[in-house]
Amino acid sequence: MDNIEVFDSPGKGRGLRATKELLSGDVLFSEPPFAAVVFDSLADKICHSCFRRQDKLQRCGQCKFAQYCDKTCQSAGWKEHKLECGAIKAFGAIGDNFGKAPNENIRLAARIMWRLDKEGGVMSDMQMTSLDDLENHISDMPEDDLKELKVDIHNFLDYWPRNSKQHRVDDISHIFGVINCNGFTVSDQRGLNAVGVGLFPNLCLVNHDCWPNCTVILNHGKIELRALGKIEPGEEVTVSYVDFLNVTEDRQRQLKMHYFFDCTCEHCKGHIKDDLKMGGKVVDGVKVGACECEIHPCIVKQIKIYFIFEILESSHPLP
Ligand SMILES: [Zn+2]
Ligand SMILES: [Zn+2]
Ligand SMILES: [Zn+2]
Ligand SMILES: [Zn+2]
Repeated sequence: MDNIEVFDSPGKGRGLRATKELLSGDVLFSEPPFAAVVFDSLADKICHSCFRRQDKLQRCGQCKFAQYCDKTCQSAGWKEHKLECGAIKAFGAIGDNFGKAPNENIRLAARIMWRLDKEGGVMSDMQMTSLDDLENHISDMPEDDLKELKVDIHNFLDYWPRNSKQHRVDDISHIFGVINCNGFTVSDQRGLNAVGVGLFPNLCLVNHDCWPNCTVILNHGKIELRALGKIEPGEEVTVSYVDFLNVTEDRQRQLKMHYFFDCTCEHCKGHIKDDLKMGGKVVDGVKVGACECEIHPCIVKQIKIYFIFEILESSHPLP
């Protein structure tokens, strides 16, 4: 991590900032998931190891839940699936859960726990935070979310094997809370369809801005944080947790509901992008609307994101 560092972002807690100048398209970091799982709804359509969509998948003969492209993917995924496999089988044998696998949150929480038990909270020097230090926002959760959390924990305890290390309910809640506010959608090989959810510790440190200077893309199973424009040394790096094409009121509601904070970014304070007429203004060094056809700055940013996808597609031809 030679181009970013952790710092105390005023009013936001920990954040990441650039330590040198970065240009549009630059990769700030790339990171494999600490753990990731396929969505419940796609469990029989996506390979549980490489997250590719396949017409024909081979089922794990033991749990009959996990599915893989072939033997190669199955062996590659065995390290993560080994303990899970027996647990899924046992879970599906319990009366109420007959024939069912636990939901994606529970499967992800368990994968995280097994990994923590084996390797501890920090798996390499590339990881800038331990999982213990991440926020869980459980104290901010509304009643309904807390009810769901309780059900998940109950099912987790049914699922968690007796012969795995036993954890305090508080520690289990912490993991669910972290997943709830930091779980990141994993896309398929083309980066366009959401196929699962994973936890990426470094990404958890990147704060939100409604006018972000970075975007996250998925490249061969790893996420990459890429600059959307020039970033100065010392500048905080941000992504948008919600669709920045939404108007201020909608963004603020979503941020409050899912991430439990009131956004005070420049765009929210000034309701900046709500006004579709910004002709002549300079945003991110781009003069917007200087010609006859006014291009809204949001569209410019969106185009930049697609442009980065294009660069990727051409530099790494996908199968
Ligand atoms: Zn595969
Ligand atoms: Zn299995
Ligand atoms: Zn905002
Ligand atoms: Zn706009």
